[in-house]
Parts: sequence; structure tokens; C-alpha cells
Amino acid sequence: MPKSLDPQTKKHLASRVNYYREMGIYDFYRRPVEEGVEFVLQPATENLLADNMSPAKTKLPAATLPPAISDKPSALKLIREDIGDCTRCRLHKGRTNLVFGVGNVNADIMFVGEGPGADEDAKGEPFVGRAGQLLNNMISAMGIGREDVYIANVVKCRPPGNRTPEKDECDTCSPFLMRQIDVIKPKVIVALGAVAAKNLLAVSDSMANLRGRWYDFRDTKLLVTYHPAYLLRDPRQKKEAWKDLQMVMKFLGLNPPAKAPQD
Ligand code: SF4
Repeated sequence: MPKSLDPQTKKHLASRVNYYREMGIYDFYRRPVEEGVEFVLQPATENLLADNMSPAKTKLPAATLPPAISDKPSALKLIREDIGDCTRCRLHKGRTNLVFGVGNVNADIMFVGEGPGADEDAKGEPFVGRAGQLLNNMISAMGIGREDVYIANVVKCRPPGNRTPEKDECDTCSPFLMRQIDVIKPKVIVALGAVAAKNLLAVSDSMANLRGRWYDFRDTKLLVTYHPAYLLRDPRQKKEAWKDLQMVMKFLGLNPPAKAPQD
């Protein structure tokens, strides 16, 4: 017969469960962490307070109590700690650096791409190569700076040869992105490209059908536009991407500059 949890552990676990529930996360799994502590709570698939949970294995020191969700830097730090030196999907095998996300924790706009490329993998920061430079130009054209937005990807490790991340890889990694979104709470999410759009919206459709309209997503608004890497391959579509960004500016009350973004 399993022993019941001691009151302090119960309190710690309940506090952490409530924290995740505030973010819309209801399922959990356990992972090994350090000697003497066999697992800690982690959002995913296993019921935390199941009757068969061994209390002897459940030791959450006070230091692991979650920060208030209003403390965005601490909440993001906790997500990064939960990711750890991640080996949850095969993409970990080829990475140099895990690319968590970067930007203003109070951003109104969050850009979400599909995954890191070679430059991002080398630097550990999203959108720093040629596509990143174009994204910076697109952001500047909106009358704001890269430092005003938050940028992340669906998967945090570079797919080999810059291939498209596979569904199981996206499914494994995207809960961390959802948690980042719930902490940042942007007014607008801009999904960059079909992979980001399809993973966030759980739809399968062409970019032509996905673009040009607003979606309700996790208490915020989401718009789909072309990935900057695609725009580098087909610059004719920049005009279309600019139309999408103008929708964002109008929604946020930003004054649109007269000129479209430069290359
Ligand atoms: S892509 Fe995400 S789930 Fe896969 S190893 Fe990297 S951090 Fe972990």
C-alpha cells in the first residue's frame, strides 16, 4: 500500500499544479532530476496526484516552488530549467545549442517560426541568420525594434540539414512553446510559415488559405504570414507579407510607415 504524501509535499505539489493550471496545462509526467530526488513535476501526460504515486520519490524542496505567473522572467526561467539538457526527441542529437527564445517578456507581438537553422544553432538565438536579418527589417518597418518583440520556434533544436521538423518532434517540443506564450501573453502571435501555423492551430491547410485572417488562440490573436526564409527564396511574396504585418499594425494601433520593408 502506498503511503500518503506528507502535508508539506502536498502543499508544494498543489502549488505547482495550480501554477500550471493557470497556464492551461492539466497533464504531467515525471523526469529524473538529481540524486535523492527521483523526479519532479513536469507538464505532460501523467496524473500528478495519482494514488499510486510513491511519496518516497516525491521530494520538492521549497526552492522549486513556482514563481507567480506575473513574474515573467522567473516563469520563463522555470520553463528553461524544465527543458534542461533535453533529449525528449531525436533533434537533440544534432544540436550545438538549444534555442529557447529571445526578446521582450512584455512584448505585444510574438513571432513564432518552425525551428533553428545553422546560424541559430551556432548562436543559441532564434532568427539570427539571413532570414533573421529580414525578420529584423520587417519588424523595423512596423516602426518597432527586435527588442520590442519576443521570438521563438516550435522546436528548439535544429533539424538535421534544416529539414522540416516532423510531427512527433513538434508534438514533443511545442508544450514548452505554449508555456512561453502563456507567460508572455502577447496581444498578437505572428506564425511564420506553414509549419508554425499548422502546429499552433492544429490545422492542415495551404498558406493561401491560412493567411489574411485572424485566429483566436490561447486568449490572444494569431495571424499567419510567410516565413522570412521563404521570402528570401521568393521575394515577390514580400508584398503579401507586408499586407499581413499591416493587419498587425492596424490591430495594435501602430502607425504604418509609408514604405514596405527593405531587403
Ligand atoms: S527539439 Fe525540443 S523536445 Fe526535441 S530535444 Fe530539442 S528541446 Fe527537446
